Amino acid sequence: MFSPALYRQRHQFVIDFVTRNKPQKVVDLGCGECSLLKKLKFHREIELLVGVDINGAKVKKQMHGLAPISTDYLQPSYDQLRIELYRGSVTQKDVRLRGFDLVTSIELIEHLTLADVELFSEVVFGFMTPVAVIVSTPNSEFNPLLPGLTGFRHTDHKFEWSRAEFKSWALKVCLDYGYEVEFTGVGEAPPGQQERIGFCSQIGVFRRLGVRSGCSMFDDDAEDVFSYTLLYSVNYPSLQDNNILRRVLVSEVLYWAEKMRRGCTEERTSKRNDAYRETEGGGEESIGASQQHVEMEEKQTACGDSTSHLMEQHGRGVSEDQEGEEYWTSSQSQQESYKLHRCESVPLAVLWSCCPKIGALSGSLSNLRHLLMEDGRVKLSQDGSAVLVNYQEQDLEEADEEEDHNDMEDSGYAEASQCSHSAEQGEEWLI
Ligand code: SAM
Repeated sequence: MFSPALYRQRHQFVIDFVTRNKPQKVVDLGCGECSLLKKLKFHREIELLVGVDINGAKVKKQMHGLAPISTDYLQPSYDQLRIELYRGSVTQKDVRLRGFDLVTSIELIEHLTLADVELFSEVVFGFMTPVAVIVSTPNSEFNPLLPGLTGFRHTDHKFEWSRAEFKSWALKVCLDYGYEVEFTGVGEAPPGQQERIGFCSQIGVFRRLGVRSGCSMFDDDAEDVFSYTLLYSVNYPSLQDNNILRRVLVSEVLYWAEKMRRGCTEERTSKRNDAYRETEGGGEESIGASQQHVEMEEKQTACGDSTSHLMEQHGRGVSEDQEGEEYWTSSQSQQESYKLHRCESVPLAVLWSCCPKIGALSGSLSNLRHLLMEDGRVKLSQDGSAVLVNYQEQDLEEADEEEDHNDMEDSGYAEASQCSHSAEQGEEWLI
């Protein structure tokens, strides 16, 4: 009869409320197969999300769908989220359910006897005293419009209330426990009949007035009441956890440091080739080379500057004060010394200013240094101002090959070498 399906409209009503009101602690009473919880977990303003149902088997069937997925681990959020699922009855108190911002009870109360509805009122409004409560239940006035329905909508329903009956219960709750209520619903009646019949599912949105009323008969011995059984709990990875923050930060730093090192090596190689071609003497070749040089210069980092330019800016400044440290610079002799050490250094200041994620994760340059110092995967320079990046074997081989090649060309050996190379190729083809 309804599009979207009525249960979806009920869940969407809760989600819209959560989006508007941003509660941090939410409990869904009678959570069944956790379908509402599975939608709510994406609302990361929620820090504690709890489900309670008397039917533990039903909860267990679907509870693993609430576990974090791989992206939650790969790209952890800043927000914290803990999910807990309990087997328990809404007619019983449990101290772990106090102090919530929002309690939802979607199509639950009609499964209780009227005596249990009274206990439900006391437990939820008198003992748990949440800031807001959303209660949905069938509107019996709508039943004549439901094709083929005789009796209640479900065999387990103990009652189905008219709007007046729901209102009478809700207003008594407000009076007894210090709440106010607004009535609404989902599943509209056909045009022209809405006012006479009302919504298919009627909803009461309760808000607590002022501070806790404290009028519960449970209050005196509330501290040690644990009547629910915990079935499942999980903490979502969060950047507020220092270990997770460090793991993500280190991955990011290692990635960018290596990227910058490669960028710088490429630029340096390109410049060296240009210089070589220029000394070899102009013509078309040198025009091609200078074009290539311009292209390399235009290679931009995340902060919009050429890699080597940035490195030089920061590297020189720092290396002047730091004898014996290796930093990025374009000086030939220093390059030789780096290769000897088989590593190059990327100043933290460059990483900090060029990689917004690194800046956002660490908060400050000194914090970045502290977090990296605590992690064995990152090698820092002696004064802790730069990350040392090892040359990959492959890079060293490439650099050596290139140097050999240049040496051969310099010594006039190039032509001979090319000849012998083609001979080798010819031999390979024969095989
Ligand atoms: N709220 C869910 C939804 O909207 O999809 C499920 C609603 S289902 C119609 C009613 C749920 O209430 C069932 O999962 C049932 O096990 C649960 N329930 C019934 N009596 C309960 C009680 N006394 N305490 C807790 N849960 C109860």
